[in-house]
Amino acid sequence: MLAGVAAYHAQTAGAIRPTMSGLAHGQSPSGLLLTCADSRVMPSMITHSGPGDLFTVQNVGNLVSGTSTLAAVQYATSVLRVPLIAVCGRSGCGAMKGLVDGVPTDMPEGALGYWLKGGASSLEAWIDGHPAGRAGARDGFAQNDCLAMVNVAVQLDRLRELDVDAELMGCSSTSGRPASSSTTRMHRSSARTTAPAARCRFCADDAGYPREHEPAEES
Ligand SMILES: [Zn+2]
Repeated sequence: MLAGVAAYHAQTAGAIRPTMSGLAHGQSPSGLLLTCADSRVMPSMITHSGPGDLFTVQNVGNLVSGTSTLAAVQYATSVLRVPLIAVCGRSGCGAMKGLVDGVPTDMPEGALGYWLKGGASSLEAWIDGHPAGRAGARDGFAQNDCLAMVNVAVQLDRLRELDVDAELMGCSSTSGRPASSSTTRMHRSSARTTAPAARCRFCADDAGYPREHEPAEES
């Protein structure tokens, strides 16, 4: 980490100084991105964004849970007035594995187990056959990755319950799927609409899922 900081100052800081100077007196990010704390999730890289572009929150399992995350959502929507909140899950998420398997028995009880309780409703929704999980299973995704998709949908539901004044979007970074080495699939759902759902690969067969979805796929 320290070597990286040194390299940043030697090679990058000077190049982005004008950009940072322009941001010195304020920020106006285009959205809030909530994603997992996993070290393989790189928000700036997968969104091709730079300083000032995104207000980013990372936690274990990208949960809309806990004072810190809720404070960030409130700040982003009430103060920064971001027009968009995106929740991004990922394949191979350790938090999803923890939800299914439980916290490893060789780990002392503590904050991790407590935190994962915040994902219990996602696990229940997946077990109950949430359409996102069923669609993922049909596409050949592993169980935990299907749960990650359900988890994104459930976290979006939580944001709706908070009545946030922003468009909501869910996405999953799904590397390692059967037919592709790396794919990012996205669907959108607007918190401001009650329009019937367009068909979406995540929830195509659920007519009772009254949201607006715009499936898109990048490889
Ligand atoms: Zn994760």
